[in-house]
Amino acid sequence: ATGFLGAGLFVVLADASPDTGDSKAPLQVVATNAGGTTKSSKKRVVILGVGWGGMSFLKNLDSTLYDVRVVAPRNYFVFTPLLPSVTSGSVEGRSISEPIRRIIRSKGKHAHFHEAECIKIDAKNKRVICKDVSEAKVKGKEEFALEYDYLVVAVGATSNTFGTKGVKEYCHFLKEVSDAVKIRESIANCFESASLPHLSTEDRRKLLSFVIVGGGPTGVEFAAELHDLIHDDLLNLYPHLHNDVKITVVQSGDHILNTYDERISKYAEQKFTREGIDVKMGCRVLGVQEGDIAFKVKSTSQLVNLPYGMIVWSTGIGTRPVVADFMEQIGQADRRVLATDEWLRVKNCEGAYGIGDCASIEARRIVEDVGYLFKLADKNNSGTLTTEEFVETIEKVRQRYPQIDIYMERQHMKGVLGLLSDATKAGEHSAVQLDIQNFKQAIAKVDSQMKSMPATAQVAAQQGEYLANCFNNMASEVNDNIAPEGPIRIRGTGRHRFQRFQYRHLGQFAPLGGEKAAYELPGDWVSIGRSTQWLWYSVYASKQVSWRTRTLVMFDWTKKFLFGRDSSKM
Ligand code: FAD
Repeated sequence: ATGFLGAGLFVVLADASPDTGDSKAPLQVVATNAGGTTKSSKKRVVILGVGWGGMSFLKNLDSTLYDVRVVAPRNYFVFTPLLPSVTSGSVEGRSISEPIRRIIRSKGKHAHFHEAECIKIDAKNKRVICKDVSEAKVKGKEEFALEYDYLVVAVGATSNTFGTKGVKEYCHFLKEVSDAVKIRESIANCFESASLPHLSTEDRRKLLSFVIVGGGPTGVEFAAELHDLIHDDLLNLYPHLHNDVKITVVQSGDHILNTYDERISKYAEQKFTREGIDVKMGCRVLGVQEGDIAFKVKSTSQLVNLPYGMIVWSTGIGTRPVVADFMEQIGQADRRVLATDEWLRVKNCEGAYGIGDCASIEARRIVEDVGYLFKLADKNNSGTLTTEEFVETIEKVRQRYPQIDIYMERQHMKGVLGLLSDATKAGEHSAVQLDIQNFKQAIAKVDSQMKSMPATAQVAAQQGEYLANCFNNMASEVNDNIAPEGPIRIRGTGRHRFQRFQYRHLGQFAPLGGEKAAYELPGDWVSIGRSTQWLWYSVYASKQVSWRTRTLVMFDWTKKFLFGRDSSKM
């Protein structure tokens, strides 16, 4: 127990092996302050994962109030938005990784970190079963259990293959630093092999055919990075291969970057086309074999086989096995991610919270909420609202759901509100009636969008911060009758003790290569070009978790500008 920072007493209790399938030795249950559930002692919080969600929770939690344990299979935090830059060597993997123990120490956190993988969440007995997955494990003592009062599940997600044949065997994924390093090496391998003297043109073209499946932000950013690497650096070193290189993006939807503003999506498509990146839209991948990917063009049903030297698969997120098993225990087996309420509490499981990519909020339907607001505004119960009441209510709805402006119907909403203010001035109720219908339609669309809040670092970090603040409040609550379990309605007021989680969208970047980027800001603003790329550099430098990584990243960028990217294999 040496090196532990917390006040908790570290004790190993007796054998209590749960049925985890393959455990041979008796399982050791690690408990902290014995009797941790008593009133006087600290509650035990176990955090699973140190990604964006887990790290943000830990950083914002007042760890003196709880007995905190953190479990993750890797002992560092990764700044994922810069992972595509690691594939091309624009930044190094270690520059975007910060050791978790360093963060715990520098932030003065009272927390114990265990490098292990949680293999089972035993919801009934409120404990997690973990496994040492390092090479240095003690044989027969790989597994242990941690008991908790509160569990924060922040284990992120896997890459979703949609069960497509051959993907796991032949494609690269881009989730971890090790994935990015492998891709970087694989690109170098393709260029070196293609330079061997005995190969035909066909062989060379196959080796230098780079395929990216998925035209979302990660796929597009990787394609842009790859294009820059090849054209800025590699073709200077391998000029004889100039005519043999090809980059193809295979996208199932009708546009790339289709979650972004249309202007960005169009700009990216045109830029890629100009640069010779082949964007194949409306295509469904049927399977991948060694050196060959098969897909179907949806509009013509044409089957296409494309030879490749390297494929990167980036088509969205899937469920981690530990989360799938947990969902089965708590009656959520038919879902892809954990369902939580708006206070991030896992549904049907007391004491467990879900944040980040592994969870999604099952919010009360916005339509119902809007209905409720309309009802409140209708003070006489007449079934109709005056124009003023209607405008006022809509304003309330917009404040409560800023997503309405962000995701959907930007132009339409502007139109609706314009019409409304005209109608208010003229007192034309018929115009308002018409807009109620339009507004309801817009709300219904937002509603379906809201069901899947974007799986981004922004969401995960905000959720971590929100939840930590709730935990800080509930532990420091003087009145024991009100604390602790999250939201409790204050009688008579209809207000919740804790505000529900509300996502604040701060905009999103899309680096497009060639020192150009796009930025979508809330409120229908879009910025594209070189200056946006500089904004991207400054925002991503400022968002680094420590001065160490900030310095390293800026150093890497400077190195790239001065000497180009390093293409050597290590
Ligand atoms: P993660 O950050 O993935 O963290 C999961 C943590 O859980 C890790 O520490 C992991 O080791 C741990 N873990 C895994 N399994 C277990 C287990 N069994 N037991 C215990 N711990 C476990 N988002 C943006 O907002 N902007 C971007 O520009 C952006 N770019 C991206 C680029 C790439 C290449 C990728 C892959 C993602 C990008 N994202 C971006 C998305 C963003 O990274 C994720 O939404 C975010 O990481 C989710 O945070 P999380 O905490 O849920 O999961």
